[in-house]
Amino acid sequence: MNETVKLNTTKTKVTKEGNVWVIDLPRFSGDSGTHHHTLGLLTPYFAGLTEGKLMATRCVNDNCPISRGKGELWLPPRADCPDCHQPMVWEEIKNPAGEIFSYTFVERGGMGLEIECPYYQIDVLLPGVCTIVKSYLSTRNRKIRIGDKVKAKFRTGLDATNTCLDLYWELGG
Ligand SMILES: [Zn+2]
Repeated sequence: MNETVKLNTTKTKVTKEGNVWVIDLPRFSGDSGTHHHTLGLLTPYFAGLTEGKLMATRCVNDNCPISRGKGELWLPPRADCPDCHQPMVWEEIKNPAGEIFSYTFVERGGMGLEIECPYYQIDVLLPGVCTIVKSYLSTRNRKIRIGDKVKAKFRTGLDATNTCLDLYWELGG
C-alpha cells in the first residue's frame, strides 16, 4: 500500500458565471448521475484552494453582537456572519499550519467516498480560527497523535478537483 493517500475523484467541469463557479461533478454513470450545483458566495474558498490559497472569512461589523467588528476567522468560511447576518470579508491564511484536534482512521468508506481507504480524517485547530477544520491527512502509514503539527497542502492546476478535497494536510510544522 502506498503511504500517500490517493483520491478516486472524477473530473469536474467548472463554468464561471460572473464571480461564481458552477460545478458539474459526475458522481455516477451517465448524465443523470452528475451533481450540478453552484458554489455561490463561497466560490473564493474553492477557487483559492486551486491556487494554493486558504481563504477564510471574518466579521468586521462594528454592530455585530459577538464580533463587535473584531471577529475571528471562520473556516470553512461563511458568506454571512451567523451572529449579525451581515456579509463577512475574505482573508487569506498565509502558510496555514496547526495541530490535530481529533482524528479518525477510516478503514472502509461508504458508497461515493472519493478518498482511497484507509486514511486519516482529521480535525485541525488553526491559530486565529474560531472553527475546527475537517479534512484529511496525506499519509496513512504512520501513527499520529492529537496535538501533532500539520501544515496545509493543496491540489492545484491540473490536479485540482474543484471540491473541498483540494485541501489536505501533511505532518510537520
Ligand atoms: Zn457578525
